Amino acid sequence: MSIEVRLVDVVKTFDTTFALDSINLSVEKGELFFLLGPSGCGKTTCLRTIAGFYQPDSGELLFGDQLMNNIPPHKRNTGMVFQNYALWPHMTVAENIEYGLSLRKEDKSLRREKVLSALQTIQMEDYIDRPINKLSGGEQQRVALARALVIEPDVLLLDEPLSNMDAKLRLEMRNEIKRIHSQSNITAVYVTHDQSEALSMADRMAVMKDGKIIQVGTPRHVYCFPSNTFVANFIGETNFVCGSVESHGTANTVINSEIGMLSSHVENSFQRGEKVSCSIRPEAIHVGGPLHQGVVNQFEAKVTGIIYLGRIEECHLLVNDSIPLKATRYKPGDHDTRVGEHLTCFIASEDVILLPPDM
Ligand code: ATP
Repeated sequence: MSIEVRLVDVVKTFDTTFALDSINLSVEKGELFFLLGPSGCGKTTCLRTIAGFYQPDSGELLFGDQLMNNIPPHKRNTGMVFQNYALWPHMTVAENIEYGLSLRKEDKSLRREKVLSALQTIQMEDYIDRPINKLSGGEQQRVALARALVIEPDVLLLDEPLSNMDAKLRLEMRNEIKRIHSQSNITAVYVTHDQSEALSMADRMAVMKDGKIIQVGTPRHVYCFPSNTFVANFIGETNFVCGSVESHGTANTVINSEIGMLSSHVENSFQRGEKVSCSIRPEAIHVGGPLHQGVVNQFEAKVTGIIYLGRIEECHLLVNDSIPLKATRYKPGDHDTRVGEHLTCFIASEDVILLPPDM
């Protein structure tokens, strides 16, 4: 059974540090929800509070309608997956998966049935009697997932489960965890500092900073409509261009910016004369197109560097001899750009996101 997890005004301090500073969060039933943010932002504290390893100083933690603040960890029916797998090295795959069921004193034949079904879910039926120390990192993490899921927890908690793996395996395991999650349909909270992991896997995510939740949304929404410069910079890459609002119409805002006049069609509530920071993603800057008369958001830039990355290439640009920008181009083989060249650049008005400038 999957349930909703809610944190209401949760505060957790360590000495003078607000690890959780009035957190309000609702994780929906069956959701794969990510907590994302830089080191020290409070992700692990939040996860451990849900698990029951930490007690909030104030506020409420609810599973469905039940207040969990005073329920000890072993009575919360949560399954946990750790970065270092935390499996018993002297036991086989099946013994590891069965361990939680034996603690719960489940009937032996039912235990066997559940272990076999969990092995099927992780597609490792052939490894049933293999000792843990004869498995790869990816296989061990799948066993750890099966061990967490076999007890049929109300909430699955994952603490940076992929960070011990090499880059290629991490990519494979993203799909594997997503597949297993969608099969089990369990409410899951997943902590990572890897934004690409969150973008590619999350149903929704919360971006945290200094113990606070800065923005919650689907990956697409958070990427396309970041609420401030911190989120825009943390989720993906971006360029910031300073400016002030020249005019504000119903669908179009014109910015007098340091790279010239920019038009933005992204909804905002800035007033004429206000200072703004325009966030422009590298992939939104089209480099080297023809100059079109009467078209807005065009400017000339000098190419200061080209970094070939196989599938894409990065163009480092300088506008007005002083404003650096980074652009990304696909199909790098199709271009013959040289460092020192001056090229026309274009940004669609839909891609100019206006944010409050940093103080
Ligand atoms: P990381 O990605 O590095 O694991 P995090 O986002 O998970 O970081 P937390 O571990 O939740 O961050 O820590 C949040 C803040 O609380 C940090 O400033 C940290 O130093 C502090 N903190 C966490 N645990 C303790 C503790 N047991 N005692 C004292 N301070 C702590």
